[in-house]
Amino acid sequence: MKTRVLTITDPEEDIKKIQEAADLIRAGEVVAFPTETVYGLGANALEAEAVRKIFEAKGRPGDNPLIVHIYDVNQWKDLVEDIPKQALLLAEAFWPGPLSIILKKSSLIPEEVTAGLDTVGVRMPAHPAALKLLALAGVPVAAPSANRSGKPSPTTAGHVLEDLNGRIPMILDGGSSCVGVESTVLDCTGEVPLILRPGGVTPEMLREKAGQVRIHSSVRRPLFEDEKAISPGMKYVHYAPNAPVVLIRGSVYSFADYVNRKALELEREGKKAGILATEQSLRKCRYGIRLSLGDGNNPSEIAGNLFACLREFDSLGVDLILAEAVEEKGIGLAVMNRIVKAAGFHVIDLES
Ligand code: AMP
Ligand code: MG
Repeated sequence: MKTRVLTITDPEEDIKKIQEAADLIRAGEVVAFPTETVYGLGANALEAEAVRKIFEAKGRPGDNPLIVHIYDVNQWKDLVEDIPKQALLLAEAFWPGPLSIILKKSSLIPEEVTAGLDTVGVRMPAHPAALKLLALAGVPVAAPSANRSGKPSPTTAGHVLEDLNGRIPMILDGGSSCVGVESTVLDCTGEVPLILRPGGVTPEMLREKAGQVRIHSSVRRPLFEDEKAISPGMKYVHYAPNAPVVLIRGSVYSFADYVNRKALELEREGKKAGILATEQSLRKCRYGIRLSLGDGNNPSEIAGNLFACLREFDSLGVDLILAEAVEEKGIGLAVMNRIVKAAGFHVIDLES
């Protein structure tokens, strides 16, 4: 299959191209499209056969459910059993935007979308090209991130092409995703909303609107063997580049000291270390291949750069990635969650 890439500069001017993508979705095909979080791979959420093509293209395990994308809140009512007041309040506050809300599903949603769960995650993305595509398709669109399963999520059309060239018919190229990490997955089926995956809408933002909000323990640590994954995505390797990743906690000085020693040691063995850290910390690092996450005082910039850096280490062929921990505040919690998962929870704490 040939993968066509259509560039969208302005959703109004490029409406014909978006219409082509919408026609493919209506015909039961899959299309990659830009969102403000990461690129998504979409198909008609109401057609089991179309949804199966997403799993096939990504190599995604069949028991990992998909998030359904809508452009109008009115579409939501048909997809879920009931919308509690609090969920509606949160949707009104944060949609369009990086928040996926989990509620009991309606019978309209095929079990392929939810991997057999009785709940469904729904979100309204903020990217203008995504909203236009959803409106023209006129159906709810199931869309996970448009990467091969297990790889870092794509934040550019180029990343999608790297992973899915020849496996999907079309990619809409709408430039870089501005948030850079996936949506916040919020389970609203209980009394107190529960964050299953931290993302663009931070716990602080949610608490301001909803009062109490809990964070699932697996956001920061691996599941215990006998622990049930309420979000199946929790149990899989995620966001991982080819080289192993180690997360390092410590002061700027202890971090720099550690990675300088480690990178030099690897260099002597003829191996390459990749150093992933803030601009400030990198100034103190002298060895290895150094990629900047951006300004340490700007967590949004760090979120925006994270996945592109992990992918770049792949193309640079490093043997080990040493990643600096960032503060788990605001969107920093999502950044740390992604690095910790990419590292398979391999963490070195220099201060303890
Ligand atoms: P992705 O589509 O790659 O952004 O991943 C979606 C994430 O949301 C995965 O971690 C899923 O396991 C999670 N998810 C989607 N739907 C549900 C659901 N109904 N209940 C719990 N988690 C979900
Ligand atoms: Mg994903």
